[in-house]
Amino acid sequence: MPELPEVEMARMLVQDRLNGKRVASLQVKDHKMLTNGSERTMREAFIGRSVGDAHRHGKNLLVRIGDDHLFIHLGMSGSLHLVDDRETTPHERLRLGLDEGALVLDDPRRFGRFGLYHRLEDLLTERDLGPDALTMSDKVFVSQMAGRRGSIKPLLLDQSLIAGVGNLYADETLFQEHLHPATKADTIPEANMARLGKRVRKVLEASISVRTEFSRLPEGFLLRDRREGAACPRCSTELAAIRIGGRTTILCPECQSLRTKP
Ligand SMILES: [Zn+2]
Repeated sequence: MPELPEVEMARMLVQDRLNGKRVASLQVKDHKMLTNGSERTMREAFIGRSVGDAHRHGKNLLVRIGDDHLFIHLGMSGSLHLVDDRETTPHERLRLGLDEGALVLDDPRRFGRFGLYHRLEDLLTERDLGPDALTMSDKVFVSQMAGRRGSIKPLLLDQSLIAGVGNLYADETLFQEHLHPATKADTIPEANMARLGKRVRKVLEASISVRTEFSRLPEGFLLRDRREGAACPRCSTELAAIRIGGRTTILCPECQSLRTKP
């Protein structure tokens, strides 16, 4: 499933390869995935205009085209591809034709979304998104989490508090901070909470730097072999699987004991 690092890679692709190019055509191939605007308004806004900067907020991508933005969310299985004029992909849902070649959103499971937004702020309000996980400061993270009653892991996954932390990265972050995922957020001291925010960013940055190939992550990362029964990279205890907030959670029962003071 595409997480923030995959979306950041998609953003870099668009930024590097499409910036300054002119949009020649636009085809919506799956209207169920169109969430804001219509094919007609998108055509009117984008065709004949130049592609500007690509921006990412959490797992959302916004590409400036003319005076508006093309919004793309990759959902469970979406990916962006640059193709030749006559080339198609197996599950093409949106095609943005350029003077030469095209940008295609391919999505077999169709949980992705796309559309038109005039401003970034409109997207943040409409989708109720908190600050971006990769660019937030420790202070912002602490203030978003301060006084929350619930367990820390579901709070990390709540996109309205912090946008962009998915299940795998929440597990990695909590593992590296020796925190049990069910730890009540309001029992975590402020200094430790600030460290947790920093860790969120570091984990996401590490994944981006290896282009999300987990086998290339440094030794000691849970994501290199994150599964029940695998050996904890720190203490070799067998990793356990539990469910928290409806999500499968992998943790080390030894390193992340609930009784350990954070
Ligand atoms: Zn361990």
